[in-house]
Amino acid sequence: MKGRRLSIHGLQASRYGVEDLELPLGQLICLCGGVASGAHALAQEVLLGESRRRFLRALSPQEREQLGGLGYPVEMTGADGLPPAQPLPAPGAHGRVLDVLHVRSDLARILRSLSQTSCSDCGDLCRQLDDDQAVELLQGEEAVSARSLVVAPMRLTQPPTDSVYDELVRAGFPRVLVEGQVARIDADDAEGRALTRRVSRLDVVIDRLVPSEATPSRLGEAIRNARAMAQGQALVRIEQDGSERWFSRQFSCRACGWQGEQPLWDRWLEGIDLLDQLDSEGEPDRANETRLAGRPVWDLAGCSIGELDLWLVDVGEHAAEDHKSLIGHCRSKLTPALELGLGSIGLWRSWNRLAFGERTLLSVAVAIASRLGGLMYVVQHPLSGLDDSSLSRTLHGLSRLVEAGGTVVYVDAAPAVVAKAQLVIDMATADADSPTEIPPRSDGASEGVLILRPRPRSRGGDLANLDPGLELDLPLGQLVCVDGPSGSGKSALLWQIARALSGSGGDADYAIDGTHLRRCIALNDVIDHARPQTLMQLLTLGRDLARLFAATPLAQEHQIPAQWFELERPGGRCARCEGQGEILHRLDFVEDLLVVCPECEGRRFKEEIFPATLRGASMVDLLEMTVAEAERFLHREKRMHAILQAATASGLGAMPLMTSTRSVDRLVVQRAVVAGYAGRADQRDLFLLERPGEGEHEHGARQTHDVLRKLVSRGATVLATRAQAVTPDTADWHLLLGPGSGVEGGRLVSSKSTASAA
Ligand SMILES: [Zn+2]
Ligand SMILES: [Zn+2]
Repeated sequence: MKGRRLSIHGLQASRYGVEDLELPLGQLICLCGGVASGAHALAQEVLLGESRRRFLRALSPQEREQLGGLGYPVEMTGADGLPPAQPLPAPGAHGRVLDVLHVRSDLARILRSLSQTSCSDCGDLCRQLDDDQAVELLQGEEAVSARSLVVAPMRLTQPPTDSVYDELVRAGFPRVLVEGQVARIDADDAEGRALTRRVSRLDVVIDRLVPSEATPSRLGEAIRNARAMAQGQALVRIEQDGSERWFSRQFSCRACGWQGEQPLWDRWLEGIDLLDQLDSEGEPDRANETRLAGRPVWDLAGCSIGELDLWLVDVGEHAAEDHKSLIGHCRSKLTPALELGLGSIGLWRSWNRLAFGERTLLSVAVAIASRLGGLMYVVQHPLSGLDDSSLSRTLHGLSRLVEAGGTVVYVDAAPAVVAKAQLVIDMATADADSPTEIPPRSDGASEGVLILRPRPRSRGGDLANLDPGLELDLPLGQLVCVDGPSGSGKSALLWQIARALSGSGGDADYAIDGTHLRRCIALNDVIDHARPQTLMQLLTLGRDLARLFAATPLAQEHQIPAQWFELERPGGRCARCEGQGEILHRLDFVEDLLVVCPECEGRRFKEEIFPATLRGASMVDLLEMTVAEAERFLHREKRMHAILQAATASGLGAMPLMTSTRSVDRLVVQRAVVAGYAGRADQRDLFLLERPGEGEHEHGARQTHDVLRKLVSRGATVLATRAQAVTPDTADWHLLLGPGSGVEGGRLVSSKSTASAA
């Protein structure tokens, strides 16, 4: 998990406080902010919600429905590396403490295998045996080494008639056991018939066994046959001493055949609570008492987690080897709870009645016990609400989850709690929609310098071929070409810079200092993870356009909310295709089929919103405009105009805004994504881009270069690896890594302004 990260790009809603988020996995992370802050929405809706949606998408529609449906997607351009997320505590948890710990069925199995119930008639042990257990038990006794009879004790509602005897004979069973003697019944005047005329139980002899090599298999077959005939009962008589043993499929006494009630643990499996049973039945029946390691099972009703654990230690000492693992499994679920100081909590306490601190601790303990690596745990409540003791225990538990490969995210604003995190994302300063917009610089230059230095305690895990001692000073506000032979560490350098800047301080190999950079945007990630959408969305125009349309007189009059004009959210978009304008049919054996949506005929919106017009153009009219047309049409809207201008300059002018990214080249997506930032980039932004315009012809490369220039002209810094669109000749700064590739690379060869070189 170390070294892996999740990244989320282009969050559209301002309530999240950020547009992009990069988090290293495998850490204890605090989103610093109150519950009403963007931090909370980010944790709940984006991290937890989006992960849940991904999980649900893999299920069938019915299963999804049962789990509450997919919910609305978070509007964003992409998310990568999002692990399965789990809320702590799980909001749906209920039942008793032993259910939350998942030990109810373990306990039932332990009781089934290891508890002992005395017969209320003779005091001997009662048991319930399946066929295999019965044979196994028999083989351990005298039966295999002595002559024995296997008998089916058939219970009859009335004394047997001749037809009963005839049928048994026809089935191949001509003998019965009566008063300890075998008698025949295969003739009308046979002795067996005479002796059993008046009984209501007929002991039919199934097999007579003389010890031999074949005994075990014959024994098994005989018991199966007997139990099939006698409603689950088989009786074995040892001829040597006349003793009898019962082998019942039901719960019964082995000595006298007495059949007891359905035992306690079977009812447990049905979810009946011991406490309810005590309530309804009052004082338990002591004569028919079930014991576990010598203690009455009823004692479980008053057990705490710690007491149960001690009891299980006792049980384990007397258990056979194969039962020890069952006990060990059950105890392993209790251990984390004990280690977190929850030993005194009663097993039967109701989850809903536990204190907040106990619930939090218990769910952390359950998460530790589940041993699932790689999950992301999102803590549901501010930890600062806990008392000191619970807090330190909870933090201890959370760090154990991290040690086990998990990622923990919690939202808090209390300094003492924030300080416990390995990584703090300060949502207040990371606010992308800060009200004080810094105007773009006109001269294109910035005083800032990016200073990269090795971190002393670097582990060097992700350095690739980079020199661990690499030192670098780069001017900000310039277009930097990162150059060098293939394998000399160009991509690794960009990756390291992104890592050092995105807050994963504890994990980065270099420290970056002396800058006022606010955002680091890895453009390749944004481009690679853009989902199918329109050019309008890719250019990040959706929100602004929706706001414009919602302000039109007709929309005001009919109170159409802004979201109705957005494709990402339901309301105004076509419900059939969810604003896609086309419907994807996934076919089993041939390529997927994309057809125009029959409902909206590709227009993506419902007819209801068509009457709302902006200077004569409806939303659909606008979508049908080309980028260049829209640029002219929206010339008064500063931000959108800047974006459209950049898009036109980069050669996208002739494309309609409704163009689907499904149908265009990746290089077009690259230019559109960059153009989208042209409306909001400023000197606090650092853009990283690998291989810009790679594979483009000269003209296209020039256009990609121009759109990157738009970012620089707004004061932003662009670091790009050398490719068609950014070369030492066209960039402002030339950074050369080398001298060779692999182990020969990774060092700084030169770093200089291209102007001074000329
Ligand atoms: Zn008995
Ligand atoms: Zn449609």
